[in-house]
Amino acid sequence: MLDADARERYLRHILLREVGAQGQQKLLRARVLIVGAGGLGAPILQYLAAAGVGVIGVIDDDCVALSNLQRQTIYRDEDVGAAKVDRAAAFARSLNPEIRVIALNEKIGAANVGDHVGAYDVIVEGVDNFETRFALNAACIAARKPLVSAAIGRFEGQLAVFKPWAGEALPCYRCLVPAAPPRDEQVNCAEEGVLGPLAGVIGSMAALETLKEILSIGDSLAGRLFLYDGLAATSRTLKLPRDPACPDCGSIARD
Ligand SMILES: [Zn+2]
Repeated sequence: MLDADARERYLRHILLREVGAQGQQKLLRARVLIVGAGGLGAPILQYLAAAGVGVIGVIDDDCVALSNLQRQTIYRDEDVGAAKVDRAAAFARSLNPEIRVIALNEKIGAANVGDHVGAYDVIVEGVDNFETRFALNAACIAARKPLVSAAIGRFEGQLAVFKPWAGEALPCYRCLVPAAPPRDEQVNCAEEGVLGPLAGVIGSMAALETLKEILSIGDSLAGRLFLYDGLAATSRTLKLPRDPACPDCGSIARD
């Protein structure tokens, strides 16, 4: 049962027929892993912490840099030089002391990805490299955990949810990106730049899709790719086909 403070804190959720007190309790019992505490991780953490997701793990091995502050709005000027996950956890705890935040100051990779993914209900990533995405994709499929995947660069963003085991036609990340493109064709915001609020737009949408997966409400984004063009102020949603020969999800059992 929600106590009086919780009923007041989460009142705007409880008022929603699709959420209600029962949905709020689901959020309070949920465990979400945020991979990357950067431009996308910041708004994702803000909204998941505010929403009362009960346990939030944040994994990143970077320190706050001055050049982060243009878009990573959970950090303050005095945080420069500190471990990102420590400052991110402090931010989330001061926003919502009722939740548990686990700061994981490490790099996620083949050696530890399975353990981390296994400890959470939903994984949401805003990382800047293909290797981490491939490792997360394989681990999430093996553990049957939904992967909310967000990316931004320059003025554009994209968002997808992968849970290929949940339906015959559903793809995984590797169906969309079979292999990493050559290094000189890879775009990332460290080299190409990014307009700050784009991180807020796409990160907030990633948080929303994460809450939908926990609550099982609405139409899951699984099987579709959302594309946003900030300069044109337009968006598109494409259907994402499954690759039957995909090495990661081609031969898995599907519901
Ligand atoms: Zn696949």
